[in-house]
Amino acid sequence: MRFCVLGSGSSGNSVWAEEAGSAIVVDNGFTLSDFRRRAAIRGLAPGRIAGILLTHEHVDHQRGVGHLSRACRCAVYSSPDTLEAAVSREERPYHAAMKLVPGNPMRIGPFEVTALAGSHDSVDCQIYVLRTGGASLGIATDLGVVPEAVLREFEGLSAAVLEFNHDPDMLDRGRYPIFLKRRIRGPRGHLSNWEGAEFLSRINHPGLKCVVLGHISRNNNRPELALAAARTAVTGGPGDPRIEVASHDVPTPIIEIWRRLAARRNARGNAPVSTPRRAAFRETLPCGDALIIAWWIPPLMVRP
Ligand SMILES: [Zn+2]
Ligand SMILES: [Zn+2]
Repeated sequence: MRFCVLGSGSSGNSVWAEEAGSAIVVDNGFTLSDFRRRAAIRGLAPGRIAGILLTHEHVDHQRGVGHLSRACRCAVYSSPDTLEAAVSREERPYHAAMKLVPGNPMRIGPFEVTALAGSHDSVDCQIYVLRTGGASLGIATDLGVVPEAVLREFEGLSAAVLEFNHDPDMLDRGRYPIFLKRRIRGPRGHLSNWEGAEFLSRINHPGLKCVVLGHISRNNNRPELALAAARTAVTGGPGDPRIEVASHDVPTPIIEIWRRLAARRNARGNAPVSTPRRAAFRETLPCGDALIIAWWIPPLMVRP
């Protein structure tokens, strides 16, 4: 699996995940032309999109979902309440709308998708986990607290996009009205840097290859503060993930997550056999280099 955060923040959010030439997009808070521009920067072709997952109906996640669904002739998936709220904002229906039941995994193309209930001031809110053969990606932005079920599902992931929305001191000192500060800090608002860091420290493990810090406020945070909090969270912990900061304006690099070698077939049509040496290899690889080295392993290591 590989993924890219096309943009993240109050001006728009979208995550692209791809496996075997088939993609899932989580949210599209951008116009269709802006989405296409961002995807093109990373060489991602919208024709590969198999489905769109919608987290909630706020405009920074929903703005371009309808246009993208119709342009790519793909379905929009979400909870019944989120779909109803989002569709009511559209002038035309989605190409198709599919209901997800929280906690019940669903297959979309090569992905197994699990939706979990979040905690946010929308009619409903989904946190998503995408799984393929040997890689998993969780996306958790727009949540005021981390529900226990989300924490459990995120333990053991290969990669995660986590919310690091605000620095509490900057929010306190900032110009936002009191009601808005309360909303942001509240249990149905957004995670601060330190709450995001606490979440990260709870899910850090040797197999966690990459974490992207997302939904960073332009007014109440700075990327370097979010990054410092995240680094503090993983220092001395069991894992040492690569940490990327998602920007409002520029897509992250394409991030490759390890793919299970057993899913590959050798030239004679046999599945490669996992060996202890290969497993040890895997654990020491930085995210992004895994696939390249996996290709390099000579055929002698593959039992016919
Ligand atoms: Zn929201
Ligand atoms: Zn948002």
